[in-house]
Amino acid sequence: MARCHLHKFGGSSLADADCYRRVAHILLTHGNSDDLVVVSAAGKSTNFLYKLLQLKDTGQLWQEELQVLIGFQQNLIEQLLSNEQARSLRERLSIDKYQLISLFSLEALNEYKRNEVVSFGERWSARLLAALLRESGVAALDIDSRSLLLADEGAVPQIRLDESRARVQQTLDDHANERLIITGFICANSRGETLLLGRNGSDYSATLIASLADIDRVTIWTDVEGVFNADPNKINDAKLLKSLSLDEANRLAHLGSPVLHNRSLQPLFDTQVSLAVRSSYASHTDFTLIAPKSSRASAPVVTNLSSVSLFSFRISTDVAHLAELLESAGLMPLAHWKLAHNRVELAFTHENQQQVQSMLETDGLGISDLDLREDLGLVALVSADADLYRRGFARLLSRDARPLFKDGLSLVTLVPTSQVNLLTQKVHRRCAGPRKRIGVLLLGVGNIGEAWVDLFSRTRVALNKELEASVELVGLLSSKKALLKEEGIDLDSWKQDFEQQATPWLYDHMFEQLQALECDELIALDISASAELTLQYPEFFSRGIHVVSANKLAGSGPLAFYRELKLQLGNRRLFWRYNASCGAGLPVQHALNDLHNSGDSIEAIGGIFSGTLCWLFEKYDAKKPFSELVLEAKGLGITEPDPRDDLSGRDMQRKLLILAREIGHEIELEDIELNSLVPKDLADIPLDQFLARIDELDNEMLQQFQAAAEQNKVLRYVAGLDVVDGQLKAAVGMEWVDTQHAYANLTPGDNVFVIRSAFYQDNPLIIRGPGAGREVTAAAVQSDLAQICRDLVQE
Ligand code: ASP
Ligand code: MG
Repeated sequence: MARCHLHKFGGSSLADADCYRRVAHILLTHGNSDDLVVVSAAGKSTNFLYKLLQLKDTGQLWQEELQVLIGFQQNLIEQLLSNEQARSLRERLSIDKYQLISLFSLEALNEYKRNEVVSFGERWSARLLAALLRESGVAALDIDSRSLLLADEGAVPQIRLDESRARVQQTLDDHANERLIITGFICANSRGETLLLGRNGSDYSATLIASLADIDRVTIWTDVEGVFNADPNKINDAKLLKSLSLDEANRLAHLGSPVLHNRSLQPLFDTQVSLAVRSSYASHTDFTLIAPKSSRASAPVVTNLSSVSLFSFRISTDVAHLAELLESAGLMPLAHWKLAHNRVELAFTHENQQQVQSMLETDGLGISDLDLREDLGLVALVSADADLYRRGFARLLSRDARPLFKDGLSLVTLVPTSQVNLLTQKVHRRCAGPRKRIGVLLLGVGNIGEAWVDLFSRTRVALNKELEASVELVGLLSSKKALLKEEGIDLDSWKQDFEQQATPWLYDHMFEQLQALECDELIALDISASAELTLQYPEFFSRGIHVVSANKLAGSGPLAFYRELKLQLGNRRLFWRYNASCGAGLPVQHALNDLHNSGDSIEAIGGIFSGTLCWLFEKYDAKKPFSELVLEAKGLGITEPDPRDDLSGRDMQRKLLILAREIGHEIELEDIELNSLVPKDLADIPLDQFLARIDELDNEMLQQFQAAAEQNKVLRYVAGLDVVDGQLKAAVGMEWVDTQHAYANLTPGDNVFVIRSAFYQDNPLIIRGPGAGREVTAAAVQSDLAQICRDLVQE
């Protein structure tokens, strides 16, 4: 059976006896009996060993310092182990001490010997941790990774993967069911001489060994909880990232993230290994998981380097060649810019500075005018969706900043070192700070609902990008059932999900559930025709939920109710839009508001606000009875199920009321005179009886038609509002109009709105087109939704 888990503990997790105990506890509580463990040198031991070498190099006394280091190890042994094991480790430590003394006594130390000196740090910690685990009664063995990892020498050791893999696998087989505590940082060449994997190389050891041992999961236990979306030491509200894709992590590491080391991620590419980064000081808290493929787009991360090395030069040869050369030496610039006159700028970490410099000074590259600046620092944003943040980031750049350099997953700029912290904060606030999450509730899941979801799923990405927010469908409600999903409803399977998962609901309970949703704002789209639902608007508003209505009944409700709604909106940042309730997608209310905003004053509005009535009168020519036409329209689905709902004119009356109120007339529905086409004694009888007697409409209609025709006029059913002698006159009913009138000659089924204003006096403004239908209504709802979202994200 393959082993599953490899834990890696860094120096800071092993800084003293308490740390060791904590680590042992983690391994006993989080682990299995066959876990692999990779350790760094305790605390600052590696630095200490380098310091000893330096003392020796410069001919100073190293003996006392060596004693301090040995004393530190001795102390750990005394504090952690009981007699027998302590004695054994003490003995081995004193052998090591003599070995170190004899190494230091050599005239000169070659590279391998120096490496050997440095390797003691890791060897001591592996030995001590294994002993401590045994002390707790579990099987554990320390392993010197020089027996596992075989490498060829280079600028950095190049691991021979096949041979190393065989050795690792053999060791695992030999020690099944034992925890193996392996030294990080070190490996060996084919002669068995010690090689080092570079400062902070133990993370690389860990991921490398994991990939060779076919491990599923590596956990790097360190002194921070994981990767944050900005440096938590600089940014107060930096947030821990729970997940990150390997590509993003890699980019972040390249740009200098203090938590991730560039090389340590490389062994994970093309494997299934996931990497957790978590705190050994707080093993119960959240952590960051870096997976080969992260399904959800991660939040953007802001990273910075307080200073970098910027090389600037002219190049007369092909830049691509230089790029290849640099790349093959493992020197990838942090960012680069091509300027005019063959001038190129390359930014590197200080760590790479010397190597880059000597490379750029090589003859034959055609480089001249080489200049190095060290007074600039880097600020970068890393995200799989880096493009989304480009505008936001660019707006924050001062004149001193280098233009944004974009490289797949990141946006990079350089600014004077003194500006790094401030810009980091700004970018964090603007781009990586929490995005406003706007939840949308769809009330009504029928035909128009379907069209709206369709439209929404096509426009959402662009909207989110424009608003730098996240607008998400979080609830679906029919009159009986509801489906709420905090994480967002899947727009591809919403219908099915609703059918299968929606549950019955009641208002009180529903509002509580809505309030509990984790959204910064909620917008309800009322595309129902439910009066009961409009009665809940005050409740929506009092809970801070914005509303978009295609439903006419609230806008045309009793004046007191309408006033109360408007009052509730008051000065709060609460929005109610209902453009869809009148003329569907036709921009009628937009036009009225626009005229008003431009200083115009609206004097009269008229029109045909019903596609059904438009159709009937455009078609009616007295050749066949009017009632026959109505039945034909009913058959085509052009009328409501009960055609009296159209013929009564009530619907147009409501729309006129909505517009009247919109331009400031505070009136009731009854203030609009209604002349129904349905005779009184047919108005209240059951539908089947009405349909049986529908020909009773015909006589009157025929007479009107003929009388009008005699005066060269045609019949139209129209709505109109005008102020005559300071008196408001509003009416809906049949009229005779001129054959040239804007109401005549319409495409059957259209709506027409005619607006007379101070500016549009003699020649009124006309808005004409389809005023109903699923697509245009959905579009009107979407337009209102987008407008509310825009208003909400404005600071
Ligand atoms: N002990 C080594 C160093 O300090 C390796 C490591 O900590 O990862 O660089
Ligand atoms: Mg370390």
